[in-house]
Amino acid sequence: TAQIINGKEIAEKKRVEIAEEVIRLKNLGVTPGLAVILVGNNHASRTYVRNKEKACHELGMNSILIEMQEEVSEEELLAKIAELNETPDIHGILVQLPLPKHIDEKKVIESISPSKDVDGFHPINIGRMMTGQNAFLPCTPYGIMVLLEETGISIPGKHVVVVGRSNIVGKPVGQLFLNQDATVTYCHSKTKDLPLHTNQADILVAAVGIPNFIKAEHVKDGAVIIDVGINRNEAGKLCGDVAFDEVAKKAGYITPVPKGVGPMTITMLMYNTVKSAAESLNRD
Ligand code: NAD
Repeated sequence: TAQIINGKEIAEKKRVEIAEEVIRLKNLGVTPGLAVILVGNNHASRTYVRNKEKACHELGMNSILIEMQEEVSEEELLAKIAELNETPDIHGILVQLPLPKHIDEKKVIESISPSKDVDGFHPINIGRMMTGQNAFLPCTPYGIMVLLEETGISIPGKHVVVVGRSNIVGKPVGQLFLNQDATVTYCHSKTKDLPLHTNQADILVAAVGIPNFIKAEHVKDGAVIIDVGINRNEAGKLCGDVAFDEVAKKAGYITPVPKGVGPMTITMLMYNTVKSAAESLNRD
């Protein structure tokens, strides 16, 4: 049976390193600061935002929360971002998605200064990532790479199959694997004969959003299984995209849900914010 990749433990280890870097920066006169903008009253968004603030405070960083009404105009939101772009104490700006329908998400993301885009969603950062330049890497994909690195799983030459092609998970995680010399296959809702592809994976990433979607029949013996999904099953219980019990019998390594990929996402957001603060020192 598979060895379990303990995301919670790896996230805690990374956070200790981040906290040390925060102390170093504070001694140089800079406290890393994150601004989170929350528009409207989405319940899940509120929980995510609270967790991000809590993580900041635990690491000795500053955070400010800017709450805006559901009815706020796009213009007003863009003005707020423009102001934060110019605020020296703020090193990271995060606009919690999704935004209300009357606001153009792409326009909002592009209005964030690439040097403060700690989510790594700005096209400039995505382009830099694709061309292997210094960039803010999107947090969930980056967290997956750190999980593998910390587990000692080597990537060059491996066949990585990514199921899902969203802009925030599937596409960028495939790119990060390619940057490390993996052979990458993307599968998605239009893919024919999914098991044919997934069965060739040395490393299989599931980012689909359907509970128990990846089954034992999809998986090669000894494969590394990364389950990005955060779903609720019929019983209301948190579960991933992978049918854990049957797949764990066959796989070599597997991430659980919860305590797998999840804890890495906020950790890498903190990492990016601290990196931004360090880079702001070099610019002065
Ligand atoms: P999304 O809905 O944007 O994308 C889902 C992808 O799955 C699409 O690209 C689609 O082509 C593909 N897909 C759908 N049906 C398919 C099928 N039958 N066969 C093959 N591919 C199929 O989702 P997302 O934003 O990438 O999120 C995916 C999951 O990861 C969700 O459960 C989400 O909650 C979770 N998530 C977790 C974290 C984390 O921190 N762990 C972060 C982001 C998303």
